[in-house]
Amino acid sequence: MAAQIISGKTLAARIKQRVAGEVAQLKEQGIHPCLAVMLVGDDPASQVYVRGKQNDCAECGIESRLVRLEASVTQAQVLEELGRLAADPSVHGVLVQLPLPAGIDEQAVIAAIPPEKDVDGFTPVNVGRMNIGLDCFLPCTPAGCIEMLRSTGLAIEGKQAVVVGRSNIVGKPAAALLLRENATVTVCHSRTKDLARVCAGADILVAAIGRAKFITGDMIKPGAVVIDVGINRGADGKLCGDVDFDAAAEKAAFITPVPGGVGLMTRAMLLCNTVQAARMAAGR
Ligand code: NDP
Repeated sequence: MAAQIISGKTLAARIKQRVAGEVAQLKEQGIHPCLAVMLVGDDPASQVYVRGKQNDCAECGIESRLVRLEASVTQAQVLEELGRLAADPSVHGVLVQLPLPAGIDEQAVIAAIPPEKDVDGFTPVNVGRMNIGLDCFLPCTPAGCIEMLRSTGLAIEGKQAVVVGRSNIVGKPAAALLLRENATVTVCHSRTKDLARVCAGADILVAAIGRAKFITGDMIKPGAVVIDVGINRGADGKLCGDVDFDAAAEKAAFITPVPGGVGLMTRAMLLCNTVQAARMAAGR
């Protein structure tokens, strides 16, 4: 294997340590950062993710409040609950765990999160602010990808960056952030022609597709930095990314592992956003 591993574990641990220090300082000033997580229904994967977020908060001294609603809840009830969290000054960050049960309009719910508490960075206000370069909460997964790229010490500016995937939560904002870092960005999706050729020209390749080991070794430019966002179950039942790790690692200069990569950074960035929300609420 030629590539160096970009360890989400190491980077996230460093960020968590910094966040814990910031939380301790805020508490000395009487500010107690608090994240409210709304979980609607009983999707098993969502429950695991929410538990992870609660554990992360506890580790850093951030209070977390879980708001659980039955899958049978109406959209109006979800909005009502969000209204309560929006008005509660002791709650600094609000996130709604996605996906929501069928019948609830995800965009309507996201839009009901006050932008100043939108620690996922998903509301139209924060998405818009990000795209025009204003201060905002950056979406956690793409922000984590940028941190991982920075950790390599290589410049992002001027590089050919290819993002595979154009979802609102990963692909599009990842492309926007890479553009902000002055990369030359290409966004690929299911209708892209000759994807392999486009990927093979990438100095920076971000894979956010949701298909196990879809990016093969021949799609990697020698010396590329490969950021694998995907979380999939492989044919062997084990967790794996969107990139064929072993083959890609033969050619890349740097690569993120799955598990132990972008997922951990996503969680760490949520903590950063929550502290930022608490600080902003206190006018610091
Ligand atoms: P979506 O399903 O919303 O988006 C997938 C994207 O991949 C779409 O834009 C789709 O194109 C594109 N795509 C699908 N098939 C192909 C193909 N054959 N060729 C090229 N492009 C294709 O997924 P998400 O963005 O939400 O998530 C992507 C992956 O990242 C998943 O594995 C998810 O589990 C993981 N994830 C990981 C996170 C983490 O913290 N590590 C956080 C969030 C997600 P089109 O738009 O044309 O349909």
